[in-house]
Amino acid sequence: AKAAGGNAIRSHTPVMDQRVTFRMSLETRLRRALQEKQFELHYQPQVDATSGKLIGAEALIRWHDGENSIRPDQFIPVAEESGLIIPIGEWVIDCAITQIAAWRECFGEIPPIAINLSPRQFWRPSVSRHIIEHMQAAGLPSSALEVEITESVLLDADGGSVEELMQLRAAGIAIALDDFGTGYSSLSYLQRLPISTLKIDRSFINNLVLDDGSSGSEPLVRAIIAMAKSLSLSIVAEGVETQPQHRQLRTLGCDIIQGYLISRPLAATEFADKFLVDRST
Ligand code: C2E
Ligand code: CA
Ligand code: CA
Ligand code: CA
Repeated sequence: AKAAGGNAIRSHTPVMDQRVTFRMSLETRLRRALQEKQFELHYQPQVDATSGKLIGAEALIRWHDGENSIRPDQFIPVAEESGLIIPIGEWVIDCAITQIAAWRECFGEIPPIAINLSPRQFWRPSVSRHIIEHMQAAGLPSSALEVEITESVLLDADGGSVEELMQLRAAGIAIALDDFGTGYSSLSYLQRLPISTLKIDRSFINNLVLDDGSSGSEPLVRAIIAMAKSLSLSIVAEGVETQPQHRQLRTLGCDIIQGYLISRPLAATEFADKFLVDRST
């Protein structure tokens, strides 16, 4: 009866409290995950839409806490709200740089590896310096790393983020605008941000080829590609899952594709075995 009583009280806990409790525990677990090195980066290839040649890769964080895998969609927002994205983000930067340096030791020059940066990482005016210094310390050229940002970088901050991005760009590090076409896309962002690449959001690729033969998001994708070309930006389609999507994107003049059709994100050794070994053949 006692146990039942306890449960009854719990079930009356307001939803809001439950959310706070959930977040607290996830936050605590994230803190421990950092200490116990439970994170890993996986790598997803980006290939030339025509030749299939490896053009780059995106590093994506993975968290396995010993029992479960927790998806980044679930824990990155908590890390952002709690501020833990600062140390986690630094771990991502350092891990990627160390991995790139190791791969270059093994395989010589390799295509650039992109990391994701959260808007919150730009709140402190040091993220660009951190990246540039660590790359120099690892002996990497600026072309070895790229960063992916979303346009929300402009909503969150007091303007300092654009300066940070300018510094990265000035150092020769390419910047991709992620998830393009979602959120509050404003074309003026394209002029304010020192970007070199547009990544068309997966949702548009998903609706590119519809079974009933109707055009879906094709007119939009066509327009985004034309606009990117006229601004001399390269264009990556993300979330390409099918051959028809790939064919359509090639027809539309999309340069680079990324998605399960080519490969899921892979652990470092698996990625190297599949995509970095014997690239000449
Ligand atoms: P994102 O940057 O848009 O990353 C692309 C997501 O799409 C990845 O999910 C990737 O695994 C997934 N994906 C790739 N190809 C396909 C496909 O063909 N079909 C489908 N359905 N999905 C595909 P993931 O790894 O779960 O990451 C989710 C989000 O979490 C990322 O979205 C990014 O916003 C964030 N994230 C991941 N790693 C990091 C990181 O190191 N730092 C930060 N700040 N955010 C990260
Ligand atoms: Ca990304
Ligand atoms: Ca994306
Ligand atoms: Ca996203």
